[in-house]
Amino acid sequence: MEIGGLNPNTLTLGSLAPGAAAPTRETSADICCTDSATLSGAPAPTANPSKADPVASVLQAGVSVAAGTMSGPVAVAVSDVAAASAPKPADLTDRLAALLPDKPFVLSAERVQSLTRQLNCDAEQLLQALIPVAKASARPPISNYLVGAAGLGKSGAIYLGVNLEFPGNSLNQTVHGEQFVVTNALRNGEEQLTSLAVSAAPCGHCRQWLNETSQGSDLRILTPQKPPTPLNVLLPDSFGPGDLGVTAALLSKQDQKMTLESPAADDLTRQAFEAANASYAPYSHNGSGLALRLKDGSTYAGRYSENAAFNPSLSPLQGALIGMVADGRAFNEIAEVVLVERRGAKASQIASTRDVLTSLQPEAALRVAYAEALPEGK
Ligand SMILES: [Zn+2]
Repeated sequence: MEIGGLNPNTLTLGSLAPGAAAPTRETSADICCTDSATLSGAPAPTANPSKADPVASVLQAGVSVAAGTMSGPVAVAVSDVAAASAPKPADLTDRLAALLPDKPFVLSAERVQSLTRQLNCDAEQLLQALIPVAKASARPPISNYLVGAAGLGKSGAIYLGVNLEFPGNSLNQTVHGEQFVVTNALRNGEEQLTSLAVSAAPCGHCRQWLNETSQGSDLRILTPQKPPTPLNVLLPDSFGPGDLGVTAALLSKQDQKMTLESPAADDLTRQAFEAANASYAPYSHNGSGLALRLKDGSTYAGRYSENAAFNPSLSPLQGALIGMVADGRAFNEIAEVVLVERRGAKASQIASTRDVLTSLQPEAALRVAYAEALPEGK
């Protein structure tokens, strides 16, 4: 596609009312890195999942052994089988932490295979064991409630996620752990998630968010002390993309067919423009993208991700911040930001982007480059 021009409006955030100081990343000393409480200590479910789901059977048997909630000859027999066939989840997490000194937010399919071999577990058990690893990187300075999540892609790769809170802003700017996982997968070219583990049952907001993903209704949700449960069981009578005639849901390839208004575009604007064209906005048709440059020259782009229910939508700035967190970067490192959206957009990102940036880094400069979308079918 031909790239059009740049006609940015330049806004200097330093001239705006300053917000709260940038949040400080949680330190490992503040966080429990081996949260075995999330993986054990619950009574066994009453249903026997072994007939329907061998993975659930292994997971639950492990939980029952760890919790010591079963008794009698039958329990002993099940415990013996579990002990012989699967490692305990808490043990997995302890061993896993030693294998991941780099604290990655993305595990390639090859690395997942290597880890499951070394730990003698399957990919869904690995997801569960990764939750405490993810939680250690959460940034919730308002609630101090740490969320860790991990999603398994169809490619075999695993994507971690955490919750992000932004002091000085409304709570609806919060990024939930499940939103982080999906956006992390999206940033890395994954087109479908098959399983997602999270440290607590997904909130209603996240069930709606996950329902927007490709084949989201079949997504297996793993929460502590529960058997794997398809999203469509957790979200019955759902409202989603299909109800609005959208078939290519979030995580599928997108092309907004946008062109920039002005001919010359710097590198940061081009990155924001590419993100805008790859954004997901099937309801408003107001695609948008953002790119930011840090003080050391590193750049991060984020694309808008819309939701059929509107409110769980994720802004392009939130998408870029997720990339920064995945790399362990601090928000006060941001030096320059470019936002690309349609002129006169009904679902504009300008005001919220300015507000959140002001609270994170008041000295950051925000430019807006406008684009137009081609008519349908062109
Ligand atoms: Zn949530």
